[in-house]
Formats: sequence, C-alpha cells, structure tokens
Amino acid sequence: MEVLDTAALLTWPLEMLMQGICANSQLDEVQRLSPSRHLMLESQGPRFEDPTPSALDAATKASQDTGDFTGLSPVDLDVLALAFSTGCTLVTDDYRMQNVCQHKGHPWRGVIQDGVREVRTHALVCTGCGEIQQEGQTCTACGSPLKMRRQ
Ligand SMILES: [Zn+2]
Repeated sequence: MEVLDTAALLTWPLEMLMQGICANSQLDEVQRLSPSRHLMLESQGPRFEDPTPSALDAATKASQDTGDFTGLSPVDLDVLALAFSTGCTLVTDDYRMQNVCQHKGHPWRGVIQDGVREVRTHALVCTGCGEIQQEGQTCTACGSPLKMRRQ
C-alpha cells in the first residue's frame, strides 16, 4: 500500500489507485476539482482514512523543522500525517512534502517527476568557531564570516 497525494488521485488510472490510502479531506478536494472523478473514487477508489492526531502533530512539527509548514495546505498535512501513521511510502510531486519526508527519513516517490535527493535545509555556519547563526554576515560570537551550508 502507498499513500497517494491528490495529484495521483486526479491523474492515475483507477486500477492503480486500488492499492492506495488517502485522507478523507482529499476526497473533498477532489470533489471540488473534478466531480466526475470524485464519483469514481467513492465507488471504486482507494481506502480513505483520517490521520491520527499524534501523526498530525508529527507532520506539523517536521514541516516546521524544515521550514515547509507555511507552504502546506491542511490537506497536505493530512496526507503527510497519514503516511507517517501508516508507515507507507508517500507518492507526491510536491517538493515540500518530499522534503518533510526526507527530513523524517520516511520513504516517498514522485507521481511523475523526479524529486529532491537531499533535504533542503540550510544553515549559516561560522567559518571560525563553527557556531550556527540565524542571520547576518559575521559571527556574533567571534566575528568570523558566516557561510551558508547544507545541514
Ligand atoms: Zn564564530
């Protein structure tokens, strides 16, 4: 089983969706975007569930850690949480969701495209003492220049 994002729900052939798990909130989203698709999904689509509150917390926290939280919709968070609570691979082309999975060490794959290979969190690191700073050009501790580095 795999957790499918809404792009997969809208574009994949029905037989490929049978093995999927999706959030109930995605069903509402599909109804808005494609009422005919919604009818098919309701009768013969994937399994629809609500994520657990603790999985939602984990998804929220992980996306805040990577800085992706503000770019994610409530439905996106449901999908992420469902992936975490079921342990299933997340199928998504959304770079933010891929990034959060990567951060959590959770398996994911793209619906169509190739996704990010590395977690895109960066830090400003002092070239002198190695301290991590939030902003600025020079270190507040030792005055050495700061350099942007992948974490
Ligand atoms: Zn320093």
